[in-house]
Amino acid sequence: MGIYHVGVLAGDDIGPEIVPQAVRVLAAAAEITPGLEIKFGDFPIGAAAYRATGHTLPPGTLEKLAETDGWILGPIGHAAYPRNDPDAINPHPIIRRHFDLFANVRPARSIQGIHALHQNVDLVIVRENNEGMQPDRNMFKGSGEFMPTPEMALSIRVITRHGSGRIARAAFELARAREKARATAGITHPIGDGPRVTIIHKRTVFKLSCGLFVDTAREVAAQYPEVQVDEHQVDSFACALVMKPQTFDVVVVTNMFGDILSDLAAGLVGGLGLAPGLNVGERYAMAQATHGSAPDIAGRNIANPYAIMISAEMMLDWLGQRRCDTAAIRAAQRIEQAIYRVIAENIARTPDLGGRATTTEFGDAVVDLIRSSA
Ligand code: NAD
Repeated sequence: MGIYHVGVLAGDDIGPEIVPQAVRVLAAAAEITPGLEIKFGDFPIGAAAYRATGHTLPPGTLEKLAETDGWILGPIGHAAYPRNDPDAINPHPIIRRHFDLFANVRPARSIQGIHALHQNVDLVIVRENNEGMQPDRNMFKGSGEFMPTPEMALSIRVITRHGSGRIARAAFELARAREKARATAGITHPIGDGPRVTIIHKRTVFKLSCGLFVDTAREVAAQYPEVQVDEHQVDSFACALVMKPQTFDVVVVTNMFGDILSDLAAGLVGGLGLAPGLNVGERYAMAQATHGSAPDIAGRNIANPYAIMISAEMMLDWLGQRRCDTAAIRAAQRIEQAIYRVIAENIARTPDLGGRATTTEFGDAVVDLIRSSA
C-alpha cells in the first residue's frame, strides 16, 4: 500500500476556492485506486495565517512540511501584505529555498476545443528556481537587491555551475521521460523528431553568467546523445515562441527569463488559468500553479482550478515515479485524463475559457469522471 502525506496550504484570494478542488480530485483518484492512500493535512499560510497568528509563514510550518511527502501551495497575494513587517514575508521563496526545490517545471499544452492563439502546443519550461535574479532567494543571507544611494538601485544575478548543472539534468531527464511516454502511447510530438531540449540564454551580453549556464548545460547534454539540443538567445526565443511554439519540446532556462517566458507560453494556449507548475528537489515536490492569487475575481467561485489540479496531479505522478509506485502513477493518469476531457468535451468550463461553470462545478465534473473511470 502506497501511503502519501500531502500538505494543503490554501494561500490567498482565489486560493481557498481552487485548492480544495485539487484536494478533491486527488482524494477521488485515491478512492478508486487499490493500493493508494493519500492523507491530507492543512497548514495555515498567507493573509489568513497572518490574521490568526501574526505570521504569513507561521513558526513550525517548515518543520511540519518536512514530515510530508509533498504539498499543494495555493497562490500567494503578497503584493497586498503589510509592508515593513518582517512577519509578513512572501512565504513561497522561503519554502522553495528551505527545501531546495531547484526545478520549476511549467508545462504549456494545447487543449482540444479551447480557443487560443495556437493549437498543437506541447512544451515544458524547466526553470531554475533558486538563484538567478530573484533577490528574495539568491543570497545566503540578505537580499540580492539593494540601494547604495537614494539614486541608485542594484540587483544581483547569481548563476552557479552546480545550479546550472542540476537544472540541465532535470530538463534532459524530462525530455527522455516525455519521449518514452509518447512512445508508450503511440504518439509523436508536434515536431515529430524525437526529444529535444532548447537552452535559453543571453550570452552575447551576459558573457560570464549566461556563458557558465550554457557551457554547463552543454556538458550535461553530452550525456544524453539521443536528445537533440538547440540554443536560443532569450530575445529571439521570445519571438519564436510566439510565432511557432509547436517546435519546442523541453526548454531549460534561468530563473527570471523562465518566469516571464512561462507566463507568455500560458498565454499562447489559453491563459493563466491553464498554467500549472511543479517545484521539485531531490526529496520533496510542491504543486503550485504559475498564476497569482487573482484578487480581481476572488470570492466569486469563478476561478479556473485547472492549473492547481494539474499541478497536484504532477506532484502525485512525481511521487509515484520516485517510489516506482504504479498505483500512484495510474491515479495521476486518471486525474489528467478526466481534467482534459472535462474541458475538451465542454462538460464544464469556467468563464476564463468562455464557459459558465463555477469553480466548484468544474471540480464536481472532474470528480464524477474520475469516479466513473473506476
Ligand atoms: P494573477 O496571476 O493573480 O492575475 C492575472 C490575471 O489572470 C487576472 O486577471 C486574474 O483574474 C487572471 N487569473 C489568474 N489565475 C486565474 C485562474 N485560476 N482562473 C481565472 N483567471 C485567472 O497576477 P497579478 O494580478 O499580477 O497578481 C495578483 C497577486 O498574486 C499579487 O499579490 C502577486 O504578487 C501574486 N502572485 C503570486 C504568485 C504565486 O503565488 N505563485 C504568482 C504571481 C503573482
